[in-house]
Amino acid sequence: MTDPNDRSLSRAARQAMPVALDVAVEIAKHNGVCIRPVVLRRLDVHTGLTEDVNVPCGATMEAKCPPCAKRNRYLRMAQCREGWHLEDEPAITPDEPTEEQRWLVEFRADMQAQRDTAEQAGDDTTDLDAVLTGLDEEINAAGMRGNLLGRTTGKRNRSTRRRQDAPDLPKRARQNTTLGRTFTSSDGKAYRPSLFVTLTLPSYGRVRAGHGVPVDPDTYDYPRAARDALHFSKLVDRFVQNLRRVAGYDVQYFSSVEPQKRLAPHLHMAVRGTMPRAEIKAIAAATYHQVWWPAVDEVKFDGDHLPVWTPRTDLPDGQTHADGQDGDYLDPATGELLPTWREALDRLDADDEAEPLHVLRFGPQVDVQGILAGTPDADQCIRYLSKYLTKSLGDTLDTDNPAQRAHAARMTEALRYEPCSPACPNWLRYGVQPKGAKAGMAPGRCRGKAHKPEHLGYAGRRVLVSRKWSNKTLAEHKRDRRTWVMEALGLADEIPDPHRYIWKPAPAGDDTIPSLALRLLRMVAERQRWRATLITLQAKATGQPTQDLSAMREAA
Ligand SMILES: [Zn+2]
Ligand SMILES: [Zn+2]
Repeated sequence: MTDPNDRSLSRAARQAMPVALDVAVEIAKHNGVCIRPVVLRRLDVHTGLTEDVNVPCGATMEAKCPPCAKRNRYLRMAQCREGWHLEDEPAITPDEPTEEQRWLVEFRADMQAQRDTAEQAGDDTTDLDAVLTGLDEEINAAGMRGNLLGRTTGKRNRSTRRRQDAPDLPKRARQNTTLGRTFTSSDGKAYRPSLFVTLTLPSYGRVRAGHGVPVDPDTYDYPRAARDALHFSKLVDRFVQNLRRVAGYDVQYFSSVEPQKRLAPHLHMAVRGTMPRAEIKAIAAATYHQVWWPAVDEVKFDGDHLPVWTPRTDLPDGQTHADGQDGDYLDPATGELLPTWREALDRLDADDEAEPLHVLRFGPQVDVQGILAGTPDADQCIRYLSKYLTKSLGDTLDTDNPAQRAHAARMTEALRYEPCSPACPNWLRYGVQPKGAKAGMAPGRCRGKAHKPEHLGYAGRRVLVSRKWSNKTLAEHKRDRRTWVMEALGLADEIPDPHRYIWKPAPAGDDTIPSLALRLLRMVAERQRWRATLITLQAKATGQPTQDLSAMREAA
């Protein structure tokens, strides 16, 4: 039989061999190989040679294929384990950009160029936008602070009445440490206790046990559920701020946002150090977040009566207005311009009677568990923390259950006209221009992740890790695993010269790039060769416990 992976075959011969994509995908999945690899063209400046490299989708985006998501889950578990019961203060020093960061930044520039070209050609940019957002997140996660475009969150001065002060909670003097207390037993053994906390949103109406489907869909508070999901990560931020104030030290955490059956996000959090259970519950009860956005209680534009875009013409060529818009939306009936986002917020600030659009609080269900380093309980919590990492909120849906499907559909409908961000086109419905308004916006047609059935309002990161959790970023954990395998094999893991390669996305439609099916099979073959080498070397070595072997397989 002819082997489709045989590189000696001519391209024509290879293409003549039909490789069913679905078969290749199954084989790839079975072998833990990425099923949506991105082809990148790598120029080696030392040799001048160009090579196409299949980069796993998990390396660049948060939206990952199942095999990448699984590998990512193992990495997250390693990260969680490493930081939880840290014995020494982590040394956080701003490093030189690593090779990975440089690569991400360069890759981002290329993708931005592709996106701009697509936009100019009038093509759909949804996918490329998603890639860019994912890249920004990865770049930040790789240790670079801030956003590449230098966007800062312009802090507005609120009247003191609106400051979201620390609620009435005890406050301890702040000690300059991220480590929790240790306790020494009479035999001199040191214990490092920590916490595992679960926080849940309030009830929106009774739900059936097991399914999470509302008993009475008509009275279930979908609008509130939708807003709580949209702003959930802000509430988590507030909780951490309050936690640190009360604890009196720089509390570190590793948390994951997970879907409940009723399709509301909830939070599991590993906290380094310990505090009284009652205090954690008091902090959760006192924590709230106010959303100071313009009101959405009055629908001003709907159906055929929608705001109309008018280009601004009063500026010389090449100049843009201070708010970056090159036009405005106006009311077609009156010809009046709608307030811009900035104007709407200014009005809100000036109005002493104004109420926040939404106030979030946690529900009464707060679970606090004490954990000791290195115990089976700790391991179980780590597995629990990463249990749903491969799934989106909507993915937990039992699609065979019509009641659950209907519940999810009502939730999606509640999110349809809910503004997901300052830039959401839904603001037009309520008579406000979205931040950075552009032509072609219409309420109900926002492409933001939060509105999609698979996200159901929560479009934030699934894993929220504080900066001083461990000494390492996820990228460094990734490198650790590789180094460990290489050392176990007695091979030196050379640190490559960061200036050696120049990466570019392979041009779309380049017919020298093999089909996806063929690329997947090649990646599987490489993975199998790598594994075979590991197993051979493992067999030669003596006294290695088998779990090392499986860990090595996983790392490979
Ligand atoms: Zn992948
Ligand atoms: Zn939106």
